[in-house]
Amino acid sequence: MNKQTRIPVAVLGATGMVGQRFIELLQGHPWFELVGLGASERHNGRPYAEVSRWRLPSSEMPSAAGKLPVVTCSPEALPDVKIVFSALPAEVAGDIEADFARAGIAVFSNAKNHRMAADVPLLIPEVNADHAAAIVQQRRLRNWSGCIVTNANCSATPLAMALKPLHEAFAVRKVMVTTLQAISGAGYPGLPSYDILDNAIPYINGEEEKVQAEILKMLGPWEEGHGFSDAPMIVSAHCNRVATREGHLECASIELERDAEPEEIIAAWENYQPESQQLKLPSAPDSALLYRREPDRPQTLRDRDTGRGMTVTIGRLRRCPILSYKFALLGHNTIRGAAGGSILNAELCVSKGLV
Ligand code: NAP
Repeated sequence: MNKQTRIPVAVLGATGMVGQRFIELLQGHPWFELVGLGASERHNGRPYAEVSRWRLPSSEMPSAAGKLPVVTCSPEALPDVKIVFSALPAEVAGDIEADFARAGIAVFSNAKNHRMAADVPLLIPEVNADHAAAIVQQRRLRNWSGCIVTNANCSATPLAMALKPLHEAFAVRKVMVTTLQAISGAGYPGLPSYDILDNAIPYINGEEEKVQAEILKMLGPWEEGHGFSDAPMIVSAHCNRVATREGHLECASIELERDAEPEEIIAAWENYQPESQQLKLPSAPDSALLYRREPDRPQTLRDRDTGRGMTVTIGRLRRCPILSYKFALLGHNTIRGAAGGSILNAELCVSKGLV
């Protein structure tokens, strides 16, 4: 696809944590051209640079985005857009995203609202690229010319990626995971500094339920005419908020149906080259998974930006005295777990001719 034929796209929730990541990652994108920004009505069409303070430490606000007006999140306010990336809060995402899909626009969403619907793909190209085909059935069932494709919760995403090659090779039957999730996962401004500095909080509203349900949908099959079936495994999650800025670290114990040597498990991660990786999509990292052999990796600060934030780093594989094995994994929550993952989903759907 050359520059002249780039697809016009918009970001909904453009002033928030995930919205800013979308704007950062879409700058200079070879297939997508950012032409619209949406947020709540209070911004009233004023330029993005006037209404939004750039919070990402790794970049400056792209000047072209700074000049775009921030409009309301409706298809009428964003004409000519073919794809929207939604970083809307769950309180409003459900109806707004459906309005866009009804109006013929492909919606790639980060919100939880449509994730578990029977005709909506919960997509990670390296995990379940075949689920994208559910869009065709969704359009037919809902009489939409657009569609909704969702990403998983930001803790479920890296966990699903680490589990996928093991599930394929050895059949994962039980998963017990404890997360240490960054502050940015709560959006901006998120938690008051007085509550989170020098602290760890063993509760994130609704998060454990999302991880437990979403893993089963993503690792299960989708079949034409039958839809989605859960993977035959049990997942139990403990979700904790800790005082890091970006990157969710997770400690997982798993039970495998077929036993394997540690080197076989590491080889399953290291050799994992899913079909989506072979497509060389613009946002796909060279390696979706990286296994580090140092005893103290992955670390949130050192490893979250691996593969431009799109690679999941794994380490510390050892036998578990209760289940089969335990290990640590790390994913960048606002990139792989949100904006970067959504853009990769859109690239996959475009490359498959679904959008
Ligand atoms: P956030 O920082 O709170 O941003 C929310 C955005 O939504 C802002 O741009 C806000 O714009 C806009 N908004 C609020 N109310 C609105 C309304 N009534 N109509 C239109 N726009 C409205 O949240 P976030 O962390 O970016 O999260 C966005 C979504 O992604 C959520 O559904 C979240 O669960 C999901 N998610 C987040 C992460 C993460 O790591 N943060 C990861 C995965 C998924 P205003 O400037 O107008 O208020």
